[in-house]
Amino acid sequence: MPTGERKEGRENRPAWGEQRMADGISRFPGTREPLSADIGLIRCGDVTWIFDVGSTEEAAEMLNGLRGPKYVVLSHFHQDHAANAGRVRCDRLYGGGYTCKKLAKGMGVAELTEVTELTEFADGVSLFPIPSSHAKGCLGLAYGEYAFLGDAVYPAQKDGKAGYNAGVLQETIRLLESLGASRFLISHAEPFEADASRVVAYLKAVYALRQKGRPWIFPEGA
Ligand SMILES: [Zn+2]
Repeated sequence: MPTGERKEGRENRPAWGEQRMADGISRFPGTREPLSADIGLIRCGDVTWIFDVGSTEEAAEMLNGLRGPKYVVLSHFHQDHAANAGRVRCDRLYGGGYTCKKLAKGMGVAELTEVTELTEFADGVSLFPIPSSHAKGCLGLAYGEYAFLGDAVYPAQKDGKAGYNAGVLQETIRLLESLGASRFLISHAEPFEADASRVVAYLKAVYALRQKGRPWIFPEGA
């Protein structure tokens, strides 16, 4: 680990434990026990975009050890993705509308910028809301061929079962198809990186299981 060096700015090097995926894109793997989501790191010049902050001490330390400006994006408000938001020092913090509401209340994170529509930044990063059965206020981050989706393609827990809301799922599929990314990065998944068309095909297969008059689809029980 590059400790003891005090030089500020320019140097924007990989952190310990980081796994490189493509030029400028890497992942700090999540953990199951305790549950902490994968963290995406996108390096654009001096700036590091951080997709989710996890929940563990280790993740917070890694993020606080990064040099240069840090722009944090929270995929949604769940603890395993956002619990460190209060202890990670950053220059900007973005979240979906619902995430902002939850965090302002429960976690004392006030300076969150709400993202309510596709927002493109000059460095090539774009942020976009994702309609999701899993959680309200999901955000994704796209960069080149890659799109970080957090937990947005996962179902919700509905009456103790994993279910998708049919109407929302249709919107999820539409959004994912509009992205133009070929690789999807999905939290907690192994492998972390998936072919976008396969993910969309899976969701379409689930959507095909919908039944008239039933707003929820339960893929396991079908
Ligand atoms: Zn999660």
